[in-house]
Amino acid sequence: MKAALLRSVACLALAASAMAQAQNYPDRTITMIVPFAAGGPTDTVARLLAQSMGKTLKQQIIVENVGGAGGTIGAARAAKARPDGYTIFLHHIGQSTAPSLYRKLSYDPVAAFEPIGLVTDVPMTLVARKDFPARDFKEFLAYVKANKDKVTYANAGLGSASHLCGMLFMTAIGTDLTTVPYKGTGPAMNDLLGGQVDFMCDQTTNTTSQIKGGKIKAYGVTTRKRVPSLPNLPTLNEAGLPGFEVAVWHGMYAPKSTPKPVVDQLAGALRAALKDPAVVKRFADLGTEPVPATRATPEALRAHLQAEIARWKPIITKAGAYAD
Ligand code: ASP
Repeated sequence: MKAALLRSVACLALAASAMAQAQNYPDRTITMIVPFAAGGPTDTVARLLAQSMGKTLKQQIIVENVGGAGGTIGAARAAKARPDGYTIFLHHIGQSTAPSLYRKLSYDPVAAFEPIGLVTDVPMTLVARKDFPARDFKEFLAYVKANKDKVTYANAGLGSASHLCGMLFMTAIGTDLTTVPYKGTGPAMNDLLGGQVDFMCDQTTNTTSQIKGGKIKAYGVTTRKRVPSLPNLPTLNEAGLPGFEVAVWHGMYAPKSTPKPVVDQLAGALRAALKDPAVVKRFADLGTEPVPATRATPEALRAHLQAEIARWKPIITKAGAYAD
């Protein structure tokens, strides 16, 4: 009886302290974990959001890049962080593909997090080094098939969007190629620019300016519709891969048990950032747009994540791509 009473008093004290913390939140710097290297597309989105959300929350948000293993190292770090609102996490579609790709994952992408909201859906592009010997997708395909033992394909590790896109591409063309994994497609882009790897599939948030500047070659976008910022680039559907479609959705999370008022405050700041004209303009320049406010909510991200986990499982199982 006495023990039960003590337990309830302790629970009340904990709840009161969480409430007090939430009321003062945020009173110090927030860290946003990005599970890929700096300079890549997830990092670009994160830094834009961090700046804008920091203004709303009147606190600095710093981005910490924790790359490796296709985003699963950063996700594991975020899952184990203190659930106090001072660590948040920006990931992408990999949050839904990792449980099917990895036989052993040290965290549960659904149970270990409090969703904050969806952010954006970013098209991907199939791009190659500037001097790749193919003028269009048809020639690209013919070259890749004829040189399958020497063509190299960069990605951000198993579980990354670039891996997923490459896996679907290789399945679609029935040809296995040599992949070169990086901690993010930021460093992969440097090697593509330097000609050390042949091609990759990456978000427009990383490829648009390089394509426009003529620094790399582009053969197609992976969405059903062309991208307004790259109007001359055909879709891969048009170019010769019917049904090929990948878009990289980004979502923001906090570790499980972050107090609800804090999560709601973060979601409000996220929605404000997605309306910030500076963010909207930069997104448009990079070939994407923010999700509507109704999707930048914990409920919408929770439902989307679960639906995506279910959607990708059979596709990944069929392609037979696993890691331990
Ligand atoms: N675009 C990368 C991927 O393939 C990740 C990144 O560096 O943002 O998942």
